Parts: sequence; C-alpha cells; structure tokens
Amino acid sequence: MGAFSIFVQTFSLIVAGIILLWFGYTIFFSPLSPFYPGWFPWRDWRKKKNVMGAPGDPQVCPVCSMKLDRGELVKSVAFPSLTGGRDRLMYIRGCFSCLERAVPRRCPVCGTDMDINDYLICRMFERPGGRNHVHVLGCNHCKKTGNLAR
Ligand SMILES: [Zn+2]
Ligand SMILES: [Zn+2]
Repeated sequence: MGAFSIFVQTFSLIVAGIILLWFGYTIFFSPLSPFYPGWFPWRDWRKKKNVMGAPGDPQVCPVCSMKLDRGELVKSVAFPSLTGGRDRLMYIRGCFSCLERAVPRRCPVCGTDMDINDYLICRMFERPGGRNHVHVLGCNHCKKTGNLAR
C-alpha cells in the first residue's frame, strides 16, 4: 500500500513536470511568443520544409525555386522607375533558403549556377491595389544592362 501511494505521487509529479515543460516550451519557443528566440539554430528545421515551387509562381523564390514561407520575402532592391511609368528595375538576391543555406542557386533564364553575390535583374510592374508582378530578365551574367548591372 505504501509503495503504491509513493508510485502515485511520483507519477503525478512526472505528469506535472511534463505539463510545466510543455508550457515553458510553448511560452518560449512558439513563433507567436514574444520570447521566441529567432537566433535559435534549430529554428531552421522547424520553419522550412523546402517545398519546391514552379518558377514564376507567386511566393516562389526565382533563384532557388523554393516556396517562400508565409511572410517571407526575397532579398531585393527596387530602383525608382527610369521611365516614370509603373515598371521598375529590381535586383533579387534570393531568399532565406538560398542565401543562408546550401540550396542551389540558379538563374532561371540562362541556367548558370549563381554565386552568393550574384543577383537576378528583374522588372517589377506595380499593379495598383494588387500584387506586384515581377518579370525576371536574367542574372548579372547573362543580362547586360550597361552601367546599371555593375
Ligand atoms: Zn531562394
Ligand atoms: Zn542568367
């Protein structure tokens, strides 16, 4: 009898411990948590599933064809329009996957492997009230746009 109550006490302590651990985990490591450690190394495998998308699709990185996570953006620079119209020149360096991790980077136009410093030259068409449309012209190897590409 005594042994059994000790077992019950130990068991309920273990359960309470597991619940506390789970709470702590949710509070500190949930992406919604204000304490969420963005620097944590295993954030990567929690976050990215590395789903391939069709190049040219929205929410797909044009450099590595990986689907972007919700809210993730490609690293890009947009220049003011040269013609005063709605289309702007834009350089796309890539997304989290292909800039921070060893995911192959390839130009969708010429197929060259891209260095970490290479970028895609694109035209962005601004659509009022809607999603911007991005048209990839080429990379800094295959698309020569004069001084702008330097
Ligand atoms: Zn990418
Ligand atoms: Zn290219």
